[in-house]
Order: sequence, then C-alpha cells, then structure tokens
Amino acid sequence: MSYDATALQKLATGEPAASTTFERDVEGTYSRGFMYSRNDNPNRKALEEGVSALEGGAAAAAFGSGMAAAMGLLAALAPGDHVLAHVDAYYGTSRLLRDLFLRWKLEVDFADMSDLPAMKKALRPNTKLVWMETPSNPLLKIVDLAAVAKIAHEAGAVCVCDNTWAPIIQRPFDVGVDFILHSTTKYFGGHCDVLGGIIVAKCDDEFFHGVRSIQYSGGAVPSPFDCWLILRGMKTLPWRMRAHCENATKVAEFLAQNRNVERVHYPGLQSHPGYDIAKQQMSMFGGMLSFEAKGGQEAAMAMAAKTKIFTRATSLGGVESLIEHRASIEGPGTTSPESLLRCSIGLEHPDDLIEDLDQALTL
Ligand SMILES: *Cc1c(COP(=O)(O)O)cnc(C)c1O
Repeated sequence: MSYDATALQKLATGEPAASTTFERDVEGTYSRGFMYSRNDNPNRKALEEGVSALEGGAAAAAFGSGMAAAMGLLAALAPGDHVLAHVDAYYGTSRLLRDLFLRWKLEVDFADMSDLPAMKKALRPNTKLVWMETPSNPLLKIVDLAAVAKIAHEAGAVCVCDNTWAPIIQRPFDVGVDFILHSTTKYFGGHCDVLGGIIVAKCDDEFFHGVRSIQYSGGAVPSPFDCWLILRGMKTLPWRMRAHCENATKVAEFLAQNRNVERVHYPGLQSHPGYDIAKQQMSMFGGMLSFEAKGGQEAAMAMAAKTKIFTRATSLGGVESLIEHRASIEGPGTTSPESLLRCSIGLEHPDDLIEDLDQALTL
C-alpha cells in the first residue's frame, strides 16, 4: 500500500503550453494529439496522467477547482438517481448537492458513514453513488473505505472518496473505491497559489467517459499554467505530506494535554474513535486537526485572535499553518460545533507551532 514513486519521477513539467489551439496536419488530422485547449492540453494531460499514476487509477479528468470536479462527477448521474453522502462531508459538497442537484432531480441523503448500519439503512434501490470523505471535515471522522465500498457495490452503486486530506497516505483504489476526488487546491498545489480539482477513475469505463465529456463540453477546465503549478507541487508532495503529518501529530499531542482544550479531533490519537480503522487504511494520519475550546465560541474566537504564526484563514494544505473558526465560515446550517477551531498544520518547526498555540490558548 504505497504510492508509485515512478509516477513522480516521470512528471514532465516542461514549459506551460499556454496555446489555446494546435496546428493541424495538411491532411486535416491532429497527429500531435491536441486540437483545442478546452478539449485537451499538454499540461493538463501530464497532470491527469501524473495524478492517475500516483493513485493507481486508469484515467483522470482535471477541473478548474475541487467543486468543479465534484460537479463533473455528479452531473454524470441521471435525474432520479440517488446519492448517499457522508454527513460530515466538505460543506461545499453538501451545499452543491442540496442547493443545485436536488433541483436537477438527483435524490440526496446524508448518513454518518462511520456508522455502517446507519449507512446501510440509508441506501435505496436507486442509489447510484456513495460519497465518502475521510478524514472528514471538520470533525475528522474516519470512514472505513473497504467496508463502505463493499456495501455500496452490493447495493449496485459505485463509490467515490474525496481524498483531498490524505494524498499519498491513503490509497482508496487499493480497498475497492471506484473514484477519487481531489481538490488539488490543497496538498497537491501545496502553496496556496492555485485552484484545481481532479476526478481519478479506477477503470476507464462508460461512467467515467460521461465525466470526461462533461469536462470538455462543459469547459470547467484548469488553465495550462494552473496545471503546470499543480504538477510542480506534486514533485514534493510525498515529502511535504510526511512533514505535515509529523507536525500535526506533535501539535495534536500538545493540544490533548492542554487544560483549555475540551476535545481534540485527530485520527492519530489513540483516543480518537476512528484510530484503529485509520491505522489500517492510512500510512500516516494527515496534517489536519480540529479542537474544541473550553469556554465555547467566545473562547475559540479569542484563541484564534491571539495566534501569531497561525494565520486566520480558510483552506488547507499549504506551507503555512492556518486556523479557522469553522462554524462562522460555513454559516447557517453548519454542523460544526461553535467551540471548534480547525487547523491546517504547515511546514513550520513544530516547536514554534506549539509555542504559538500555547500562548494563544492561555486566555
Ligand atoms: C477544499 C475542498 C474541496 C473543494 O475544493 P475547491 O478546490 O475549493 O473547489 C472539496 N473537498 C475537500 C475535502 C476540500 O477540503
């Protein structure tokens, strides 16, 4: 269960091939393989091949953002199809399902997929897609990928794992998942300077051809330069992930001991309810964690206000550590506890991060 290192060595980032159009042969054919950049582009092709090889997939379709990738996958379903999604999925995913796809006649339900009997009960005869995310956002719940994939397949559905929080360290295709989604805005890009998303398919099947066709007909595609930036980020992805994970483990252990902290959500802590499954399906526990402050929302906001190294900002996966009060960014309908702060642990020295939190938590 490890990633394909040769996939990284083969990444040919070259120059960003910024052209929107490509020359035809005199006979009118396109023997160079490219015609028009909405359909395909050398940088996008290199990115798709690179991410697909890294995840052990058969093919991939890159989009202009993680949500555009999610739209590409969902729009490949048909009206009347039922989607069962994890209750603690990324807020933007639930919003997209509720606000847009219900109107377009998908049927949608949410279930806690860390509770297998509850998940099984929520399946319907027309369930076509099961949407997992693990570790989830922002409570870092762990979903048993192998178990949910098996249940989904038995019900005649396919399943997708939003693997944004765990590239390199979690291999959904190895445990039966059919599609992987990444917001490449996060760890793949790695420097908070590019938006992107990608759907990777385990099999280059008819359903995936539907996604591919939405990609180039719909046109929510990344620019060649954006693909180039994500490819460049990918070269250091395994090494950055290792450091994010090591730092996050140290910060989580510190927080678990702090008297101003009510609860820490990090799957690498033995006290985490998903620890055993996380240990089975992840090689490290990720760079994301959240914690609940003693003293509720007011205390949480005051702590976030006092940090000096952590920047108060949303998003994740970059070099810099970020902290955010999730409930207020998600707004009405949030399931995030009011006392919760979510941290993206960056690549700073862990002692500096701990020192910063230590002073910020002392109100
Ligand atoms: C950020 C994020 C997304 C959305 O990706 P964008 O690139 O912001 O559109 C989806 N899923 C998860 C888990 C994310 O963290």
